Amino acid sequence: MAVHEKNHFQVPIHETFQSTVQGEGFWVGTLVDFIRLSGCPVQCPWCDTGYSDGGGNTLRELRPFAELLKELKSSRVVISGGEPFIHKQLPNLVQALLDTGRQVNIETSGAFWQELPASTWITLSPKQHISPNYPVQEPFWQRANEIKFVISTGQELDFYKDYLLSSSDRPIFLQPEWHVRDRAIPIILELLQRDPNYRLSLQTHKYIGVL
Ligand code: SF4
Repeated sequence: MAVHEKNHFQVPIHETFQSTVQGEGFWVGTLVDFIRLSGCPVQCPWCDTGYSDGGGNTLRELRPFAELLKELKSSRVVISGGEPFIHKQLPNLVQALLDTGRQVNIETSGAFWQELPASTWITLSPKQHISPNYPVQEPFWQRANEIKFVISTGQELDFYKDYLLSSSDRPIFLQPEWHVRDRAIPIILELLQRDPNYRLSLQTHKYIGVL
């Protein structure tokens, strides 16, 4: 299919913003654009995007690829959500972004799987321990470029210990759940001593008041 035909594809958007800073994980501090896709069924109780109750009242606007491409400003684009992998158009959207010469990152709970171009950076943030109906799809444990755990009690890692054995060749970020960060940061500092692969990730965008 010709590129101009693909650009007529549409995808439900929660919001987009440009020329901001990636606040967490491996690419922290990098100038990026965000495309946040609408919708997520996983229902994490602390979801800061409004999907903890299914997200019936959250933002959703069908927008064509061409419009999304036109507003881009940074050389790296982060696709997040909601849950990006619930959208069948995701591989097409990634390819459309790659075709502009940009790099593409995706953030996912891992509950839904689709094959994407190898150059796509995947951040896996498992939520299976709080939403058991949405287990991480097996291929993600090998495919993810980084794994990020939101830490509240410190017991989250025990739930995934068998999977983490096969993911020991990539960075594993431990990020305090924002609302209990004063309690969680000391727990994470203890956890760092367990494995040299563990790294502290702070949501720096929230500390500096950037979207
Ligand atoms: S997986 Fe992410 S978007 Fe979905 S409910 Fe949990 S925190 Fe929110």
